[in-house]
Formats: sequence, structure tokens, C-alpha cells
Amino acid sequence: SVPVLTIDGPSGAGKGTVSRAAAKLLQWHYLDSGSIYRSLAIAVLQAGVALEDLAAITQIAKAMRLEFDCGEVLTVRLNGVDITSQLATETTGNAASIVAAYPEVRAVLLQKQKDFRQLPGLVADGRDMGSVVFPDAQFKVYLTASAEERANRRYKQLIEKGIDANLLQITREIEERDRRDSERATAPLMVPDGAVIIDSSSLSIRQVIDAVISLVR
Ligand code: C5P
Repeated sequence: SVPVLTIDGPSGAGKGTVSRAAAKLLQWHYLDSGSIYRSLAIAVLQAGVALEDLAAITQIAKAMRLEFDCGEVLTVRLNGVDITSQLATETTGNAASIVAAYPEVRAVLLQKQKDFRQLPGLVADGRDMGSVVFPDAQFKVYLTASAEERANRRYKQLIEKGIDANLLQITREIEERDRRDSERATAPLMVPDGAVIIDSSSLSIRQVIDAVISLVR
């Protein structure tokens, strides 16, 4: 069947950067599954639907039409309208984590994710790629890094943007989110069966990409 490389792990471990680079080097398709949950969140907020209204959210998930364009930056159109600029906001991310917690919503979005599996191959980035969406993937990576290192990276990003930040507070928030993500009932963060664990704490991006690519080649 069509080859798939899944890259799962906690947020801040570098999944996005590594997955995009791997897809480019392999010339495979790329699935940023977080952006699917983010797009649904945008659709729900735009419709003025409450984040508790599961029936309406499921309806929107079924009806929404998404188009992804993986150029230098990922462009996403929702029902024909470019929503790229809203994807990365804090508001979108928070709403995405709420809609992603409904099993009914995950079930609706499952097929949309599987549809990305096309020749010559797919790199799939997320939380449950190797465990739920592509359990039969030929190549599985679990990319992680210590909470301290992920906090450091986040801190540097914020400072570079001129945003005031507190390293200790960011570290605590990351540890708190890890706990929430691994204890949640729906799609808890876990190491998929057969995944190779890569800890990026003391590796450069280049080294991580090389390690991932060498699994496939
Ligand atoms: O990775 P990203 O921050 O874009 O994910 C947005 C939200 O969607 C997160 O809250 C994450 O928990 C959720 N998500 C998920 N399953 C995935 C990808 C993302 O539940 N495969």
C-alpha cells in the first residue's frame, strides 16, 4: 500500500518543521492534522456556534470543504475562502483543542485525514497518526523533547517577536499541557505501537531530519 511516515509527539517538539522538511526531501504529500482541527475551529467560530454544541459542530465538520496547498507555507481554504492567516492564532488553537476532544468529531474527520494517503507517499504530522489514523504505517516516529527544552524554544520564539515572556511559567504550562494531553479520554498522547522514539532535546533540526529520513531510505 501507499507508504506513510507518521510523526507524532507533544507540541513544541519540532514535529511541524521536521515533517515539512521530510515531506519535501522525500517529495511526498504532507498532512498537518492539527490544521484540520484548527480549520474546523475557525468554521465553528465563524458560524457563531457554541463550543459545547456537539450536534452543530459535527454538522459543520461533515459539511466543511477544505483545500490544502503545501507550498513554502501551508495555505488552507475553507469552503473556498483563504483562512491561512487565522490558523496559528491562540484563539484558534484553544478552540481546536476543545473540538478535538469530541470522539464524534474525530470520527467525522478520520476519513478526511486518510484521504491524504496518496502516491508516492505521505508524511502525517499529529498526535494520533501512528496509533489511530494510520496504524498500518510503514514508518512511525514519536518525536519528543524535554519540557525544559520545549519551553526554552518557545521562550526564544516569543522574545524574538518582542513578546515579554517568563521561562519558568512557560515550563509549568508545558508540563501541565503534557499531563492534560496524556490523561485525556479522547486520543490521549501516546507512543504508537512500533514507533521509533526520537528525543530532540540535544539534537539540531538537521540531525532530527536526517534521523527521520534514514528510517525511510
Ligand atoms: O498541532 P496543533 O497545535 O496544530 O493542534 C491543534 C489542536 O488539535 C491541539 O489542541 C491538538 O490537541 C489537536 N490535535 C489532535 N489530534 C491531532 C492533531 C491535533 O487532537 N492529530
